[in-house]
Amino acid sequence: MGNLPFGSLCLDNRPKKKKKKINAKMAQPHVALFPCTGMGSLIPFLRLAANLAARGCNVTVITLHPTVSAAESDQISNFFSLHPHIKRLQFQPLSPENSKFLIGDPFFLQVQAISNSVHLLDPILAALSPPLSAIISDLQVAGSMCRFASQKSISAYVLATTSAMYFSLMAIFPKLTLQKGGGKFQANTHLELPGLGAVPVSSIPVPMLNSNTFLSELLDANIPCLSKVKAILINSCADLESETIEALNSGRAIPDLAPVLAIGPLQSFEDDKAPNLPWLDEQAPESVLFVSFGSRTALPIGQILELRDGLEKSGCKFLWVLKTNRVDKDDKEDVETILGESFLERTKEQGLVVKGWVNQDQILAHPAIGGFLSHCGWNSVTEAARLGVPILAWPLFGDQKLNAKVVEKAGIGLWADWGWCGDVLVAGDDIAKKISELTTNEKIRVRAKEVKEKIGQARESGGDLDVLLGGLIDQLKPTEK
Ligand code: UDP
Repeated sequence: MGNLPFGSLCLDNRPKKKKKKINAKMAQPHVALFPCTGMGSLIPFLRLAANLAARGCNVTVITLHPTVSAAESDQISNFFSLHPHIKRLQFQPLSPENSKFLIGDPFFLQVQAISNSVHLLDPILAALSPPLSAIISDLQVAGSMCRFASQKSISAYVLATTSAMYFSLMAIFPKLTLQKGGGKFQANTHLELPGLGAVPVSSIPVPMLNSNTFLSELLDANIPCLSKVKAILINSCADLESETIEALNSGRAIPDLAPVLAIGPLQSFEDDKAPNLPWLDEQAPESVLFVSFGSRTALPIGQILELRDGLEKSGCKFLWVLKTNRVDKDDKEDVETILGESFLERTKEQGLVVKGWVNQDQILAHPAIGGFLSHCGWNSVTEAARLGVPILAWPLFGDQKLNAKVVEKAGIGLWADWGWCGDVLVAGDDIAKKISELTTNEKIRVRAKEVKEKIGQARESGGDLDVLLGGLIDQLKPTEK
């Protein structure tokens, strides 16, 4: 019969009674995973899906159609061609209704469209075969998924795709806003989070500081289910943020929170391959700074030019993924036009600038990479941590400042606190100085390697993470009704 995919049907002539008994004994979970918009959510969900399937689960992944970025759609196609036994359920949200909020970001617009139409998934999920035993969703749709799960008496889980630190802030925020009467918070002050310590107001994303924003409304709608889900899976680990994870699980930080299982860093679902970049192959070990600000962040053009100057002045070898538009489909200008031919000519030995999608995980694993100038999207942080690459954190939006705080506290990088993106123009000289601070910091280099090793040990058979994931599979199994 060859290798049948897990989801395939096959004819079985054995007497029905016997078959039933075997099925009941060997019942495997059928889990639906529901990522939200953007690569930052999609990638960890696909990684978890591959991991659960490799451990024998039936897995269905709900994918959005159409996706905002071309990268999401490519990633989805690649994933299903590598994992034909994982089922795909395409979901096309209704077009967004007129919103009371001004939403300029196409990724947030899609989140809103999903929030408005997620109920349409109920009958489709209810009809899946074999019946679902659990659903794991992004926090942004967790309220609806939790409601569905409770109606069907199955388990609901949330996969948090950010740091435990930022997750804590989100989880506590509706309560804090309530305490403050929905008012604004004072700049230049700290918020004392129970069990978590002081968080500077300047590190909290601006839309969270105002109760009349889409983000605040989204949190208000979804945070209450965090006490109802069976567990919160978080793409983090004790080597990065043990205190926060412990505080969350002790009930000190947020009362009534479901157990938090730190199942990270989630590993790539692709084979380890070298990136197809001959320039990188020629460079000395750990000599190159990888520069990338993730999948949906484009620096303003003036800042791109300062970064260009800073990289050149630092004298450090660099591999820079240049992005000039939030959505990749609209990112059309070529490198020469943006950076100038003379710069490219002068730095042709020192660096390589690329545009478009690269496989970041493969690049970070390359022996020539010795540092990562990153916006600190949480996936980027976990990838660098897993691969032992020191980080120069330049957070720009959203959760990134708190993620940068985690990087600094874990000792695997430096944080250049230059405000939110666009607040100030960071000069090339300052960027060059920070780069050399990172590249000459032996302590961080050693610590990054140590964290890599510990993460590797946890993943090994019988390691902490392996055991945790095994326990999770048991939890996901269908309960007898
Ligand atoms: N990524 C990549 N190639 C790119 C840009 C991004 O592989 O050219 C991946 C990166 O490895 C990470 C994800 O996209 O897994 C981006 O997620 P992150 O949380 O770091 O940042 P976001 O893009 O959500 O801001």
